[in-house]
This record gives sequence, C-alpha cells and structure tokens, in this order.
Amino acid sequence: MRTAPLSRADIADLADRVGGPVALPGDAGYAAECATFNLLTPVHPAVAIGASGADDVRAAVRFAAERGLPVAVLATGHQMARSAEGAVLINMSRMGAARVDPERRAARVEGGARWRGTLDEAGAHGLAPISGGSAGVGVVGYHLGGGASPIMGRRHGYAADHVRAIEVVTADAEARRVTASSEPDLFWGLLGGTGNFGAVTALEFALFPVRRFYAAGLHFAGEHMARALHAWREWACGLPAEMSTSLAFQRALPAMPEPLRGRFVMHLRFTSLGPRDEAERVLEPMRRVAPALMESAGEQPYREAVSLFLDPPGPFPWVERSGMLRDFPDEAAEALLAVAGPDAESELSLVEVRRLGGAMEGPPAVPNAVPGRDAGWSVLGIGGGDAGKAALFEEQLNTLVGALAPWTSDERMPNLLGAREGATPQALRAIYGHERYDRLAAVKKRYDPRNLFRMNHNITPAHHVDGARPKDS
Ligand SMILES: Cc1cc2nc3c(=O)[nH]c(=O)nc-3n(C[C@H](O)[C@H](O)[C@H](O)COP(=O)(O)OP(=O)(O)OC[C@H]3O[C@@H](n4cnc5c(N)ncnc54)[C@H](O)[C@@H]3O)c2cc1C
Repeated sequence: MRTAPLSRADIADLADRVGGPVALPGDAGYAAECATFNLLTPVHPAVAIGASGADDVRAAVRFAAERGLPVAVLATGHQMARSAEGAVLINMSRMGAARVDPERRAARVEGGARWRGTLDEAGAHGLAPISGGSAGVGVVGYHLGGGASPIMGRRHGYAADHVRAIEVVTADAEARRVTASSEPDLFWGLLGGTGNFGAVTALEFALFPVRRFYAAGLHFAGEHMARALHAWREWACGLPAEMSTSLAFQRALPAMPEPLRGRFVMHLRFTSLGPRDEAERVLEPMRRVAPALMESAGEQPYREAVSLFLDPPGPFPWVERSGMLRDFPDEAAEALLAVAGPDAESELSLVEVRRLGGAMEGPPAVPNAVPGRDAGWSVLGIGGGDAGKAALFEEQLNTLVGALAPWTSDERMPNLLGAREGATPQALRAIYGHERYDRLAAVKKRYDPRNLFRMNHNITPAHHVDGARPKDS
C-alpha cells in the first residue's frame, strides 16, 4: 500500500502531458479542483487533475495504473462517496459541453456536463431529456446511478434505459466507445454500476419531444398534513403514467419561496406531460382535501422543470438517506407522520416520498444494471444547512429509515445512496440483489481487475472474497 505523498518530480511528466492543471496538496488550485457541492463530503486526493479532454483522462488513468493508485472521478461533487485519500482525482468539470442532434433526437454530453446545459440545448429544439430534480447535478453521474426523473420517469423509465453510447476510459487507460451491441457486459455494468468501470468522457442518450408540461404545487400547513398525506397516498396510486407526483415535508429549505421561508410545510408536487385540462381535472380532488397555504399551477417550458424541487442555490452541507418502498399503505403513512410530521421532533430539512411505478417498473429499453425496479415508491430524507448538526441529522435519518423498514425493499437505485451507505461489499450486494451483484463483480474483474476505480460505492472484482481488500490498495 502506497502512503508516501507524491512529489513534484513524480508528477512532472504528467503535468507536461495534460492540458488542464495538475495540483498537489498545498498547491494553489488544489482546493478548487477538489471542491464538492456537498460540503460534508470533502475529498483529499494525492493529486488532482483538471481534465480538459479524453486524452487528459487517459493520461491520468495511466499515471494511476502505473503506480497502483486508486482513481476518483469528480464531476460536480454532489455524491462523493469516499474521501479519495491517496487517490488520483480526475476533475471533469471542464468537460461540460452538451450537443443536441434534433434529427436523431439525441444528445451527446461530455463527462462533466450538468443538466442546465442539456436542458437549454434540448429545449431550443422542443426536446427534453429524462432529467432529475436539479439543474446542477452531473448528467453522466445521474445516468450511471440509474436516473429517476420526477417528471419523465413514469412515462419513459429510468434515464439509463435510453442511453445509446458511452465513451469511457477503462482501467487499462484505453478509450472505448461502448454500445449495447459492441461490449454488452461493460455497457450493462456502466449503467447502474456508478463509477466502478471507468471514467466516462462522453455519453449519448435519447431525447423526447416535450416542449411544455403542466406543473402544480400545493403547500399544506401542519394541521392538514395527516389528512392530505392519506388522501395523496390513495390518489397517487391511480395516476396514469404521464402524470407524476411526490410529497415532501420541508423545514427551512434555503430556496423556499418568501411567504413560506422558515415555516414547516408539506409540499405536494404534481406534473403532467398530457393536456392541461386533463391534468387540472385529475388534480382537483387533491385541491379539495384541505386549504393550501400557497398554490402554484400552470404550464411551463420543460427546461424550467427543476424549479419545482427547490435545489440548494450553491454548495451546501447535508447528509442523506434514501430507500425504496415495495408498498406505501396507510400504516406506512402513519409511521412516516410519526417521525417526520407536525408532531415529530424532527429537524430534517426534507423528507420526500415519490410515486414511482409506470415504465420504471417494467424491463429497461436497453439492458442495464439499475436495481430496484419493482419498487412502487421512493423515500428520501435530507438533513442540511448546519454542518454542526450532522450527527443529529444522521440519528434522525436512522429513525426515519427504521420507521419505514417494514415496507422497504433491499434493492434500490444507487443514485441516492448516502456517503456512508453501501460501504461494504455485503451491503452493496443487498442493494443490487445477488444475481446482479455477481454479474457486476464478474464485469469488474474483466475490466478493472486491480480495482483502480474504487473511490465510489465499490463493487469488488469477482476474484476477491467479499470484504477482502484488493491486493494493491
Ligand atoms: C439536489 C439533488 C437532486 C437530485 N435529484 C435526483 C433525481 O431527481 N433523480 C436521480 O436519479 N438522482 C438525483 N440526484 C442524485 C444524483 O443523480 C447523484 O447524486 C449523482 O451521482 C450525482 O452525480 P454528479 O456527477 O453530479 O456528482 P459527483 O459527486 O461529481 O459524482 C458522483 C459519482 O458519480 C460518478 N461519476 C460522476 N461523473 C462521472 C464520470 N464522468 N465518469 C465516471 N464516473 C462518474 C463517480 O463515481 C462520482 O464519485 C440528486 C442529487 C441532488 C444533490
């Protein structure tokens, strides 16, 4: 195991080869390359490389492979699962281009692209990607962990289901263009296997003809929460696939609209890809359940879809836990109210339940390793804003997860795994399911036998006994 810090001489050749900066701890520029969006998941690599293109990525991976060092990849720093201690960090943020081909209804984005650019480029042609609830999240990281869209998912499935090609630098420092037919195992494993199989330099995926969509939000005060939650639960089960909904208990989120700032509210979100009058007719029963503190409703361009979900406006400290629920019966709603509702002593900033189902339940359009497809609901808890309360938030997140355990499925989408989750092969095996994990471990053995890409929710190569460390780590 190499522990000695890298010297300037060690990196001299690498610094000559790559177009972007190469920084050691203490160098000006090191902190900027290591900056994460989640301030509670800092990274401290042995060297940080700001990649300006696929050749830089190849040079960085070759440098790591020659020295037996692990590789960490950072695009936006929304979900850094490990601190990258001793690793070669590849910062992809300079590789942010997004190009849209309206004829083929497809986008090609570079490895560090954020959703904002793709939403704008696609929107200019009346097209939409299967994007998530945040414009700042990385497009590639989102696809590699599944990609559950709160608006498009029930109609079209996971984002990973619509990937056409992946350009990736694997552990042998080779650049490959991988499709479902050219290298089926690697393609399958990359989509769902998070960053375990290489550094993705570009991704191509399908777009859909969606110019505008209908969005509504209802905010309920404490005294109406129980009634609204129970009514929502039943109502959400009957929605057609083009309609989606989630419900969130929100406490002091930084992006709360002014009249609600600092208040504890329950936010019901509803969207539809269908005609406006039909959406309004379907929403009407929920409007009558209880008076709303604030209501918004209307059609909007798809590129503004993310405004519904109150993304933190800038880097922010938070801890999170998530789960997928097989079912969300009355008893589960009561359990949720007890730990997150108006009478709970919770300080969590957000506790959200999303209705999944629709195309997210069916088989994927292209084969991939995204687990948790039979879950009907997802739950996400976030404690954020005050880094000093991280331990308290962790405790309250444990309480939340424990309360919903009777309905939780073992398998779940990797995208919302917290930094401390899936930390052992045994835990990850449960999250992926045995059969899928065994196949992932076999693909890992073939493409990354020394487990260079292990600064993530790590799938260990098949020849390692579960729990054992790779030989050269
Ligand atoms: C506010 C917010 C909203 C979200 N909404 C949704 C949502 O609606 N649906 C959903 O499915 N998820 C959602 N997520 C989760 C998000 O998709 C994951 O956290 C995703 O991993 C973030 O990727 P990133 O590149 O932005 O983050 P990073 O921290 O930069 O990357 C996370 C990990 O992804 C891998 N990775 C990223 N880029 C590459 C690459 N180019 N090559 C190889 N590996 C790479 C690496 O292992 C890296 O460690 C949300 C997260 C946040 C914080």
